[in-house]
Amino acid sequence: MKIQWLGHSAFLLHGRDRILIDPFLTGNPKAAVKPDDVDCDIICVTHGHFDHLGDAVAIARRTGAEVACIVEMSLYIEKCEVKATGFNLGGTIKLRDTKISMVPAFHSSSIGAPGLEFSAAMPTGMVIDSGKVVYHAGDTAVFGDMKLVGDLYEPDVALLPIGGFYTMDPRQAALATKLIRPKIVVPMHYGTWPPIEQDPKEFEMLVKKESKAKVKIMTPGEVMEV
Ligand code: ZN
Repeated sequence: MKIQWLGHSAFLLHGRDRILIDPFLTGNPKAAVKPDDVDCDIICVTHGHFDHLGDAVAIARRTGAEVACIVEMSLYIEKCEVKATGFNLGGTIKLRDTKISMVPAFHSSSIGAPGLEFSAAMPTGMVIDSGKVVYHAGDTAVFGDMKLVGDLYEPDVALLPIGGFYTMDPRQAALATKLIRPKIVVPMHYGTWPPIEQDPKEFEMLVKKESKAKVKIMTPGEVMEV
């Protein structure tokens, strides 16, 4: 599988299918591609915040990709005349040749302009099995049941926020890595704006103390083969 970081929490996986996750590209100062240049079969959206839902609807309209997200958000996506599969925490769906499981995240979720947001139900994490197993934690604090994500899905790769302020910081994300036990961990959701400025090397150093996972620090646009 090829894993490309598109900046912030956006990734493009090339496994049995092409899976785009949290495609915040328009307005993302670290975006590696333009939304019109992304091709994909499936789009996973972890929660409704603008920096995760991002360009999902526009890309789905152009490509015909199906969106996978929590039920309440799927109703909104379908109103935008895009095909969506709404599922919920603990559930696993199969789209094309890819299995997607929805797992908890501790955060909030809403859609809409500031001051006019409406609830988009729970935030989520996604475990995507398309040849290799990739856990995208979404936006979240660290929580003890991340151990269960490791027990149930044994991810090859974990994509974890380290930016602090809205999510885990490097210290929490290192503890999360210890709980999840992936082979490879990739830091995300940092450096996009000043409040979430972090040094990924600090995360790497902390992970080395806590677990055997290999830390892969990516630059936006970079592709990793796993
Ligand atoms: Zn968020």
